Amino acid sequence: MYRKILITALGLFITINIIAQHKTENLIIVTLDGMRWQEVFSGADTTILKIKKFTKDSSGTSNSFAANGAELRRQKLFPFLWNTVAKQGQLYGNRWLNNNVDNANKYKFSYPGYNEIFTGYADTLVNSNDKIWNKNTNVLEFINQQKRYENKVAVFATWDVFPYIFNSKRNGLFVNADVDTLKFKNPSLQLINDMQFLTTKPIDVRPDVFTYFAAREYMKAYKPKVLYIAFDETDDFAHAGEYDQYLKSAHAEDAMIADLWNYIQTTNEYKNKTTLIITCDHGRGDIIKENWQHHGEKVEDAGQIWIAAIGPDTKPLGEIKTGGLLYQKQLAATFATILGFNFKSNNEVAAPIKSIYN
Ligand SMILES: [Zn+2]
Repeated sequence: MYRKILITALGLFITINIIAQHKTENLIIVTLDGMRWQEVFSGADTTILKIKKFTKDSSGTSNSFAANGAELRRQKLFPFLWNTVAKQGQLYGNRWLNNNVDNANKYKFSYPGYNEIFTGYADTLVNSNDKIWNKNTNVLEFINQQKRYENKVAVFATWDVFPYIFNSKRNGLFVNADVDTLKFKNPSLQLINDMQFLTTKPIDVRPDVFTYFAAREYMKAYKPKVLYIAFDETDDFAHAGEYDQYLKSAHAEDAMIADLWNYIQTTNEYKNKTTLIITCDHGRGDIIKENWQHHGEKVEDAGQIWIAAIGPDTKPLGEIKTGGLLYQKQLAATFATILGFNFKSNNEVAAPIKSIYN
């Protein structure tokens, strides 16, 4: 009996201690669809830049993104990742340094990838990009049900399959995708709503910049505690074989993330209590150079991904240069744990990535 009380007291002490040490109250997640780790860690691929069918404006694109050495090139392409996250946060997935991040799912395309990120489970039954209501419980709906987080979780996505991936019909999660009307009285959101219906659509869904501004203005007006922004252009331009556009979209998305991070630093609700995690749903080929465009089950190296994190609980380790292997499915529990929650689901949930919050 005595021992039981002691153990209970000890457990309580440890729990209180963990909560006390915890600084993160808000979480921002951003994904760049199908963004390869190769460009994240070494910038523009100089071989693909020279192949005319992939890079129409070879000299212009080279002027923007080419440089001698991987470190300079990656800084040109992703200035926020390499000037800010690499100094104050962490970057996982440089396989040239034997630091690996993998899809646990074997399919290596979008819906299975996003399902894995947000449910913590690589479900073999999730094997299509079709608009199917997801049966699995996701970590965002879980957080949305926690005290102080009710109706404080929001998703802004370019791709129109996200309402199905999160099954917002079942759980009432706020998911604004593609040209879902922005029904707000806020004048900025009304303007973005008008623009998203009138813009050209090079990738057939609203451009990422509208997804970003909708998310940013929503954040300013309604102060969500968890915000997920899902960009899409990189994947579409890669499939189209347009390497220059793929790089330009990646560069623009990096700038949008920087803009958001700068906003966070100027706002009392978010400053010093917000963690930002950036990742992707899948990689693309590289062993066979032409496969940079493609991904999926048949592309051997398309399950190779990357993760970046920055925030008050994340040690400034920069680029992780030690060997290791992380899985995409570990992100769901990481999102929950960094906010002080223990994500449970009807499926097995993979362990969180401790080094991000320890
Ligand atoms: Zn794709």
